[in-house]
Amino acid sequence: MTTHALLTPTEVWRAKIYSNGWKNPGLGAESVIEKATGAKLGEIGIASPEDVSVAAALAREAQKDWAKTPGPLRGDVLREFARLVLVHADELADQIVRETGSIRAKALWEVHMSAREVLEAAALGSQPVGVLTSTAEAGRQSIARRIPVGVVGIITPWNSPFILGSRAIGPALAMGNSVILKPDSQTPVAGGVSFARLFEEAGLPAGLFHVLPGGADTGAALVKEPLVDMISFTGSTRVGRQIGSIAGGQLKRVSLELGGNNPYIVLDDADIEAAASAGAWGAFFHQGQICLTAGRHLVHEKVADAYAEALVKKARALIVGDPFDEKVQLGPIINERQAANVERIVAETLAKGAKALTGGSRNGLFFEPTVITGVTRGMAAFDEEIFGPVAPITTFRTDDEAVELANATEYGLVAAVASANLARAQSIADRLHAGVIHINDQTVLHEVYGPIGGVGASGNGFNHSTLTNADQFSEWQWITTRSQIPVYPF
Ligand code: NAD
Repeated sequence: MTTHALLTPTEVWRAKIYSNGWKNPGLGAESVIEKATGAKLGEIGIASPEDVSVAAALAREAQKDWAKTPGPLRGDVLREFARLVLVHADELADQIVRETGSIRAKALWEVHMSAREVLEAAALGSQPVGVLTSTAEAGRQSIARRIPVGVVGIITPWNSPFILGSRAIGPALAMGNSVILKPDSQTPVAGGVSFARLFEEAGLPAGLFHVLPGGADTGAALVKEPLVDMISFTGSTRVGRQIGSIAGGQLKRVSLELGGNNPYIVLDDADIEAAASAGAWGAFFHQGQICLTAGRHLVHEKVADAYAEALVKKARALIVGDPFDEKVQLGPIINERQAANVERIVAETLAKGAKALTGGSRNGLFFEPTVITGVTRGMAAFDEEIFGPVAPITTFRTDDEAVELANATEYGLVAAVASANLARAQSIADRLHAGVIHINDQTVLHEVYGPIGGVGASGNGFNHSTLTNADQFSEWQWITTRSQIPVYPF
């Protein structure tokens, strides 16, 4: 069953923030825009630093009771949230399409994946909360147990706002924390209002979850707020560095999931048709605006022409336009600044001698899928995260050279290798500097079960997954007990 009642009537959230109910914000309102058409969808409140402080105080208070609520009961609220996500899947997907410019298939994938993220998070509430540890001291009982971190500030980007919110909000609440979410101001409904409405319906107690839309000022206020104990940030490396240094100065826990410039290595023994299909998906899905996008196609020189030809064929067949049209496979770039940046990267790369085999230009926010060959180190398309539908091809002669090229970046999010020889692919994979590696697949894979997190300039070592979420959103506490105080030498 599906219904259209979650985000309508828009009067509920119009020009508001969510902080113990819907409130007027300190910094006025901003328009919510449909990216493909420029149409105004509504207005959202922009939270001020004072709104952040008020929310933090409320969140801290509410968290005390939530921490005492048995884990399975916390999980029940999250299970209800996940159920409601599926009930409202079509409406949530519509909103994602409008606000992010993604095609509907991507939006629906995001919605269903988010339901799974939150369901798996709910199960954390039923896991053991501690262990009876070994002790070398007779008569001492020694326990290690998990306790919540406290108030968690979650800052998310616009590209996949629902899943990137879900993957942090779910486990943070499951582990007994309260949450203040600051979605990007370009996607405040898909990435903010949706969560508030779903938690209202799911019966989450007041004060535990706040949505404070806004830009850099609101985000910075959240990071600096002393009553916020942890920041979970997903976004650019530039902003991640700033947040990391402020949070570090406050000795505040900070989880940073940042950008990538991800290599997709195609060896000379790979099935080129299949590799090009995977490469096209990795490069062009969601207009290349995914942290996991295949940003550099490193192809053995023997098969580079065949790979380029197959990729060009795929690129030319793609339909660019309004993602509400079912035929469309690539929607708009998120905004003019970002589209101009993709254009700059392509122009600078071509000016240094690379060749565009297809694409390279845009009609407003609609960028043609682009394939560039002859790309080498020192060219913008090799050195920078593009965040657009551009596949730069760089050739190599030996496996060692492929590894060297793949690692020639400060980023380390994901890498992929395509080859018919698994031993050869594995030996390359073993030498890649990346938090995630896929053999015989492309780079844009997401599962709640596999730890996703970057190394180098792509992150600071936290990972999102069923394997790691409990550690990310709780602290270990050591408790010892004796029946009597022991006798000490003095
Ligand atoms: P961004 O860093 O500009 O913005 C991300 C969020 O940070 C937004 O909510 C923004 O309002 C907020 N923000 C901006 N300045 C801030 C400041 N000074 N203090 C606090 N908050 C601030 O990122 P973007 O360009 O919108 O998003 C795209 C980037 O995100 C890409 O680099 C992409 O690779 C990365 N990303 C990473 C992952 C991952 O899991 N590693 C996932 C998705 C996107």
